[in-house]
Amino acid sequence: MDAQKTYEQLEAWQKEIALLGSIAGVLGWDQRVTMPPKAAPHRANQLALLSGMIHERATDPRVGEWLAALEGSELVQPPDSVTAVNIRQWRREYDRMTKLPTELVKEFTRTTAIAEKVWEEARAKSDYALFKPHLQRIVELVREIAERLGYEQEPYDALLDEFEQGMTARRLEEIFAPLRQRTPELVAAIQNAPRRPRTDILHRHYPRDAQEAFCRLVAETIGFDWQSGRLDPTVHPFATRLAPGDVRITTRFYEDFLNPSLFGTIHELGHALYEMGLPQEHWGTPMGESVSLGIHESQSRMWENFVGRSRPFWEYFYPIAQQHFTALQDVTLDDFVFAINEVKPSTIRVEADEVTYNLHILLRFELELALMRNELSVDDLPDAWKERFEHYMGFRPPNDAEGVLQDVHWSGGMIGYFPTYTLGNLYAAQLFEQAQRDLGDLSAMLRKGEFRPLLEWLITHVHQQGKRYTASELVERITGEPPSADALLRYFQQKFPPLYGL
Ligand code: ZN
Repeated sequence: MDAQKTYEQLEAWQKEIALLGSIAGVLGWDQRVTMPPKAAPHRANQLALLSGMIHERATDPRVGEWLAALEGSELVQPPDSVTAVNIRQWRREYDRMTKLPTELVKEFTRTTAIAEKVWEEARAKSDYALFKPHLQRIVELVREIAERLGYEQEPYDALLDEFEQGMTARRLEEIFAPLRQRTPELVAAIQNAPRRPRTDILHRHYPRDAQEAFCRLVAETIGFDWQSGRLDPTVHPFATRLAPGDVRITTRFYEDFLNPSLFGTIHELGHALYEMGLPQEHWGTPMGESVSLGIHESQSRMWENFVGRSRPFWEYFYPIAQQHFTALQDVTLDDFVFAINEVKPSTIRVEADEVTYNLHILLRFELELALMRNELSVDDLPDAWKERFEHYMGFRPPNDAEGVLQDVHWSGGMIGYFPTYTLGNLYAAQLFEQAQRDLGDLSAMLRKGEFRPLLEWLITHVHQQGKRYTASELVERITGEPPSADALLRYFQQKFPPLYGL
């Protein structure tokens, strides 16, 4: 059979798998947003059936045969052609799935399912001893997984590769080093700054309906298309694409705090705009998928922070916000912009500001890397956490619930995931700088509520590329520079000292 025919066969096969995946996506969205609790057991059966069907098709030996035939064909040249990209990525997915024995996968699923439940209890009681044996087992299992998947330098790289293809621990250590050195100084300077934001204004009464109306207005002004998406309330907000032309975002409302709904919506909107901007004609293949978690996060952070917490953005939106919220009527634009940009070390990562957020991530990255390198034991983890936390933030967390037990990730076996959050911030800074160079006076556009030029720029340079390049390659092609912390540090330096009167 000729290569083109083989390719079409494999593509049709993979698109059917993607179709099954999108059905699971609808069920998953419903489960998290609208499903009544008593439907849970049946829903679990539905999802288990689908995931079994997907796994069976994805690991079918014929996929391996088709790939082997195609890898010797002209379709893998040039390497950034649509067929070459798809064949390369399908190979990667096929290898990752077939290299792990079914027993190991089952053991991992069982162990993490139990560990997540135990973690919830351990966190509630701030009792690390309860969680420790489960974490120990998870570390053993991910080590075995890393060995099976293979790596060039060290086991951590095999885990990281799942979330940020091509990235390595050593490269991350280099990229993160300037942040590690310079962020604590900036935080300390801000702590001693002469000016303080009035954050109480964000905790006045903000009626739920007014929040929703304002969030919807912001989302559609930036570019969310209600004909291809929805916004719904949920407990743990997320964004998901269910199909081309169907991207869902979610948010949560607190009447005594404006930030979660507002900045949560803009964050998820950034993820959604990426999904909406992917090339629809490649849906169901890697060319129609996002690059990596880091690039995905760069889109959400850019809209949430670089745009949504900027003064020009609020020069446009603040008068409209004042119409929605009586709580803001006696608050000046400057006071509002300062309040939403407060920098304050705290124990909780998910509530952290733009600057200290990366310190939370560095801490987790360093600890999980030390675990994987056998330089730290699970026994010593809570103390190591407290020490490093104090080094970065200047004080110790009061207990393990606010320390080593605060995140769900490790209980779910997600080691190698945390760095993608900070990579997202770095990439966002690099891409935003380049957009400013290419588009001219971006601030003037934001001030007028013109978001289309930035969005179009992102669609062209990032979204439409699908998985053509790795994250590093993409950033370097767009900006001329490999991933680095320089742009983010420049952005911090331009933004925060003036706010704080430094
Ligand atoms: Zn995100």
